[in-house]
Amino acid sequence: MSNIIDGKAFALGLRGRVASGVAGLAARGIVPGLAVVLVGEDPASEVYVRNKGIQTREAGMASWEHKLPAETGQAELLALVEKLNADPAVHGILVQLPLPAHMDAEAVINAIDPAKDVDGFHILNVGLLGTGQKSMVPCTPLGCLLMLRDRLGDLSGLNAVVVGRSNIVGKPMAQLLLGESCTVTIAHSRTKNLAEVCRSADILVAAVGRPRMIPGDWVKPGATVIDVGINRIEEDGRTRLVGDVDFDSAARVAGAITPVPGGVGPMTIACLLANTLTACCRANGLPDPELVG
Ligand code: NAP
Repeated sequence: MSNIIDGKAFALGLRGRVASGVAGLAARGIVPGLAVVLVGEDPASEVYVRNKGIQTREAGMASWEHKLPAETGQAELLALVEKLNADPAVHGILVQLPLPAHMDAEAVINAIDPAKDVDGFHILNVGLLGTGQKSMVPCTPLGCLLMLRDRLGDLSGLNAVVVGRSNIVGKPMAQLLLGESCTVTIAHSRTKNLAEVCRSADILVAAVGRPRMIPGDWVKPGATVIDVGINRIEEDGRTRLVGDVDFDSAARVAGAITPVPGGVGPMTIACLLANTLTACCRANGLPDPELVG
């Protein structure tokens, strides 16, 4: 088996399972629906939102895109969130981050009905995840976990190091790995001897946002490396996307590694679709869908 984890192929499989789940619900007259809200004209966010819409429709779900101008007031955005909360056709609500600086992103996220919070950022879902209860799990860490389980099977007892402690990736990733009975270390910008900490990892997750920060000699031979970083750099006169891990040197020692692009990225949208299906099943009193192939 190659030591490269093909996130694109894995995401395709997951999207196929989601589409089957959606088709199964159609027989009951149920159509899962995802509403995405974009405020402002950030080009990267516009691309994400467009891709989310395309893949949502491809999976057989209903999709709504609400585009609001950058100068929209917070009250107006909150009113839209309230409307979507009350709409029974909408099972998932995603407010694309970042929001313009004049808005209080936490207040907006916490206004979403937690049962429709398919990003898993609502404070209630954060608390449920932290206490090991059924919750909506943030898409990127969920995608990482599904790939780790697929590659390694039982994760219990493994040493996991998560580099990065953001609310959207690092912290929920660490919670999920703890839930799998890993021994978890969270590293960040103040961590001492980061190289040594990384070398102790059977599972190394990099979520930093610094191009190729982690070289191959920080990776324990045989370790599984999940590179969440997406960094745009100029190299040899062209723009490239690279991860937080130096792929070439790390791939020589890792037991398995995700590339950038084509690793974690494609799994994030696939998990968003999976979360929307899960939210729809729960709203209809049905069991959670089977996401593992
Ligand atoms: P973030 O909020 O900026 O957090 C970065 C984390 O890295 C912080 O905890 C920071 O530590 C830590 N850090 C920064 N410099 C460090 C250093 N020199 N040594 C050790 N730790 C360091 O970023 P994020 O939102 O979690 O995103 C991280 C990366 O993942 C970005 O490249 C982003 O584009 C990517 N991403 C990808 C996906 C995907 O779908 N693949 C989804 C989300 C994010 P402090 O807390 O101490 O400052």
